[in-house]
Amino acid sequence: MIDIDKYLEQLKSPRLQLAISIQTRLITYIREFLLEASFKEILPVIISPVTDPLTDYRVRGEVECYGFKYQITKSMIFHKQLALHTAPRIFCFSPNVRIETADRQNTGRHLIEFVQLDLEIRQANREEIIKLGEGLFSTVISRIKQDAWADLKTIKRELPYFEPPFKKITYEQAVKTYGQNFELKLSEELSEPAWLIDFPLEEREFYDRQDETRPGTLVDMDLIYPGGYGEALSGGEREYELEKIKSRIRLKGIDLDSYDLYLKLAERGLYPSAGFGFGLERLTRFVCGFQDIADVRLFAKKPGVYGL
Ligand code: AMP
Ligand code: MG
Repeated sequence: MIDIDKYLEQLKSPRLQLAISIQTRLITYIREFLLEASFKEILPVIISPVTDPLTDYRVRGEVECYGFKYQITKSMIFHKQLALHTAPRIFCFSPNVRIETADRQNTGRHLIEFVQLDLEIRQANREEIIKLGEGLFSTVISRIKQDAWADLKTIKRELPYFEPPFKKITYEQAVKTYGQNFELKLSEELSEPAWLIDFPLEEREFYDRQDETRPGTLVDMDLIYPGGYGEALSGGEREYELEKIKSRIRLKGIDLDSYDLYLKLAERGLYPSAGFGFGLERLTRFVCGFQDIADVRLFAKKPGVYGL
């Protein structure tokens, strides 16, 4: 049940008001940065016959209309690939629904409904997308420091300027150094953001491109926040050739029929591309220096908790 008094108190809280004002600025800076870099903004897809498999999430959000089954967007990865037919550089503030397991209720980082800045570039490689991510992140941080200094002072948040290029650490190195919980441990040690690169094939979804010169290794990356805030974004180069996509789907043990429509489109040709998804609530949380992601999100829905 929702405690109405508590709910209203949170909606009216100065802390949330401040976070939303910071988030409004962040969205503006991101949009200005990308428009300046010749991106086109596309509108989000909320339901579709096809969405990101994200095989970690056992429950699928489904809606039935007119006898057709639609899935609720877990990520717009396939729509981004297809949107490259329309424009060479695209981005979207894309709402995602992922039914995370309830044990993630108190991580401070997980919601079941969140928004990511999702972008994709035709013919790009990982190096280009990393450069873009670094430029975007450091610009956004430097602008928020300048414009929102009074708000940041109120919440006692001291943010440094971050100078690209950021350090790169391979997945293999990270696991060797920090063990299985490497994402958080690495993040706790960092004083500036760093890239985690080269995830093993079995750790990611079928659309992350395999390095042809190093079978089993993907041409992908995560950006990790400093200060223990964990993962900021995930992305990489994409598989775009039909036979490779099919073999990766099979390798995941997924039925090819469930991607029939996507495969038919891929057969007609996809562009080589690279891109990433950057969680907006997590960015706001990091900028505010808050522990709980629910403090930066109106109508926050934590895993396992009923919300408005
Ligand atoms: P992914 O493709 O799963 O890495 O998601 C892209 C980005 O969205 C992540 O790097 C996070 O910033 C954000 N994100 C993913 N899952 C969640 C979640 N459950 N709650 C809030 N943000 C999330
Ligand atoms: Mg990720």
